[in-house]
Amino acid sequence: MKKNISPNIRTDVLIIGAGVAGLSAAIKLAMSRSDLDITVLTKTHKKESNTSWAQGGIASVWDFSTDGYEKHIEDTLDAGDGLCDRDIVEIVVKEGHERVVELIEWGARFDKEEDGDYNLGREGGHSENRILHYKDITGWEIQRTLNEKVKSFPNITILEHYFALDIITQHHLGRNVTRLTPDIQCFGAYVLNKKTKEIDTILARNTVMCTGGTGQIYKNTTNPVIASGDGIAMVYRAKGRIANMEFVQFHPTALYQNTGENPDFLISEAVRGFGAVLKTPEGKEFMEKYDERLSLAPRDIVARAIDNELKMSGADHMSLDCTHLDQKGFLDHFPNIMRNAKVSELMPLRI
Ligand SMILES: Cc1cc2nc3c(=O)[nH]c(=O)nc-3n(C[C@H](O)[C@H](O)[C@H](O)COP(=O)(O)OP(=O)(O)OC[C@H]3O[C@@H](n4cnc5c(N)ncnc54)[C@H](O)[C@@H]3O)c2cc1C
Repeated sequence: MKKNISPNIRTDVLIIGAGVAGLSAAIKLAMSRSDLDITVLTKTHKKESNTSWAQGGIASVWDFSTDGYEKHIEDTLDAGDGLCDRDIVEIVVKEGHERVVELIEWGARFDKEEDGDYNLGREGGHSENRILHYKDITGWEIQRTLNEKVKSFPNITILEHYFALDIITQHHLGRNVTRLTPDIQCFGAYVLNKKTKEIDTILARNTVMCTGGTGQIYKNTTNPVIASGDGIAMVYRAKGRIANMEFVQFHPTALYQNTGENPDFLISEAVRGFGAVLKTPEGKEFMEKYDERLSLAPRDIVARAIDNELKMSGADHMSLDCTHLDQKGFLDHFPNIMRNAKVSELMPLRI
C-alpha cells in the first residue's frame, strides 16, 4: 500500500539538536554549500543544551613547547582503560586544536593570562595543562558563539520548541522495516510543534541526529532535563543501529544538597585540577589507596574510589577540600561554582 506524507516543512538537511554537535554541523555545511536549505530543531530554546552547561573547558594541545599530540593521545588511551578506538582518539586529538582555533575565530572567548597567553587548566588523566576555559561556564560561551555564528548564514533556520517524536522511514510508507532491512532510508521526522500543539511533518533529503545524551535516565545526574536520549530512542524505534550504549560519562563530583535537586550541580573536575583534595567527611585523604595521581586520577577511578569509601564508611557524601587554595584565584576561575556552593570549610560533594 502506497501512502502519501504531506509535509508542513520541506528542507534539504534536517538537523535534530542545537547543541555543539548540531550547530557545528549546520555551520560547516552552510560554509561549504550555500545552496542547501538547512533546518535545525531544538525541543526547548536555543540556549538550552548540555553544551551550555559545560563548565571546566575544552581539552586541546595548545602549548607545543611542553605538550604534543602524542602525549594527549597516550593520556586519552590510558584514561580509556584499553577500550578506546585509537583511530578516533587520534582524529579527535589531532583535529581538536584546529576546531578550537576555529571557535576562537568565530568569537569564542577563553580566559587569558596577563601576558596574553591562554590560561590552561588541568583535569583528571591529563599529564599537561591543556584545558581552555571561559571562567567555569565554558559551555555557555561556546553555545553563545555558535548561536551568533549561525545568524550569518541565511540558509540556516533554527526552529525552537519543535520536539522531534519519530523519524520517518519506509515503514511510514507501508513497507515492513526490520533490523535486518538493508536499505533503511530516512525522509525526515514527525515533530510536535509545542507552540501550536500540532504534530508537523518535516520532509528532508538528509536527517542528522544531534540530540545529545541520556543522563536523565539516572537518579543522580548533572545533565539538564533535556538529556533524555530522544535521538537514540528514535533511531532504535526506526530499527537503526545504535552502538556503545554502555559508555556513559559520569562526573565524580557534584554539590551535595540532599534536597532532591534535578540535575545535581556539578563541581567541575577543574576544581581538582586547581588543587582541591578529596577527603572523607572527617578530613582524611583517601585517594592514595586507589591511584598515584590522587585526586586527579581519571574520572572512572575517582568515581569508583568515592563509591568504595561511601560503602565502607556508610557516609552519604565525601568532601572536596578547597580551604588551602588561593581564594582570589579560585573566585576568578570558578565564580559560578562559588555562587552555587554553600561556602563552608569543606565544600561537600557526592557522586
Ligand atoms: C554539567 C555539565 C558539565 C560539562 N562539562 C564539560 C566540560 O567541561 N568539557 C567538556 O568537554 N564537556 C563537558 N560536558 C559534556 C558536554 O557538554 C557534552 O558532551 C556536549 O555538550 C554534548 O553536545 P551535543 O550537541 O551532543 O548535545 P547537547 O548539547 O545536549 O544538545 C542536544 C540538543 O538536542 C536537542 N534535542 C534533544 N532531544 C530532542 C528532540 N526530541 N527534539 C528536538 N530537539 C531535541 C536539545 O534541545 C539540544 O538542543 C559537560 C556536561 C554537563 C551536563
